[in-house]
Amino acid sequence: MAKEAGRGRAMVFEPAYAQAVEQRLDLARHLRHAVEAGTLHAHYQPQVDLSSHKVTGFEALLRWNHPERGPIPPNEFIPIAESSGLIVDLGLWILREACTQARAWIDQGFKPRSVAVNVSPAQFWNMDFETAVSAVLAETGLPPHLLCLELTESLFVDHTEHRISRTLTALSALGVRLALDDFGSGYSSLGYLTRLPFDRLKVDRSFVDGISTRPEKRKLLGGIIALSRGLGMSVVAEGAELQAEVDVLADLDCDCVQGYVFSRPVPPETAPLIADAIERRFQTISPSLAPDDEAA
Ligand code: C2E
Ligand code: MG
Ligand code: MG
Ligand code: MG
Repeated sequence: MAKEAGRGRAMVFEPAYAQAVEQRLDLARHLRHAVEAGTLHAHYQPQVDLSSHKVTGFEALLRWNHPERGPIPPNEFIPIAESSGLIVDLGLWILREACTQARAWIDQGFKPRSVAVNVSPAQFWNMDFETAVSAVLAETGLPPHLLCLELTESLFVDHTEHRISRTLTALSALGVRLALDDFGSGYSSLGYLTRLPFDRLKVDRSFVDGISTRPEKRKLLGGIIALSRGLGMSVVAEGAELQAEVDVLADLDCDCVQGYVFSRPVPPETAPLIADAIERRFQTISPSLAPDDEAA
């Protein structure tokens, strides 16, 4: 009887489940050829330094235009790329793409800015990652300190801290910068921060959203910033959408902001123009930063 009920249930769910599996397989199939098909692109979102009021870097973010379904967000296709193993190739592709782009910007006279690239745990574990990074830097001629690798706390699942530490230390020795991404959205073991060589902490959007109206959130973020400082890390606030949030972040002495308030991720040809516009916008709103003759 129970068995029958169980069967009946399974039948109800089966078609939807099968459809979901089929859809994932279809996405994985298309994704496999996305690079050759030219449907995969990197967009770049500016990171704004709150004390110099300059765009000091860009984060590279994958964009995929599916031939039939149109644009598919990374939150949908990255998990598929991760579970199918495709992320290893895609990750290497965007790393090379971003480093090539950053080098091209320098060659075009667009002043050097760092470029940040997201790294999935599978990339980190499935190949000799530091050798791959070192090869891409050599091949593209990007100075290592202009590359920032963003890693999430999911890296810490199922692996000994010793192994993580070894690879991070090797990357750090190359001169590459390391950021802990989405801080506060997962395990958030503070112990890792004290022991691993991260240069920057990217505070998750959920901590930033609401800081202009909720004093307790403001206190929490202030504490995180002080802690990071104490550990020698700089702090990037992710996902600021309002000027009021930027004002609070500046008050809290947050180093850097990345959010729609300044710009969404943009195609590479637009990035220099956006950086310029952001920096000019600061000059208009804060006269103290304008050249002397203009301020007088
Ligand atoms: P992430 O690395 O934390 O990237 C920041 C995400 O926040 C981006 O979403 C960005 O567009 C979004 N964002 C920035 N400012 C704002 C804001 O003011 N408001 C809101 N609502 N969102 C904002 P995106 O591009 O959709 O990427 C989502 C996630 O997908 C990334 O989160 C990252 O985990 C993953 N991802 C994207 N590209 C890559 C990649 O090349 N490799 C890997 N491994 N993962 C990637
Ligand atoms: Mg990121
Ligand atoms: Mg993030
Ligand atoms: Mg400040």
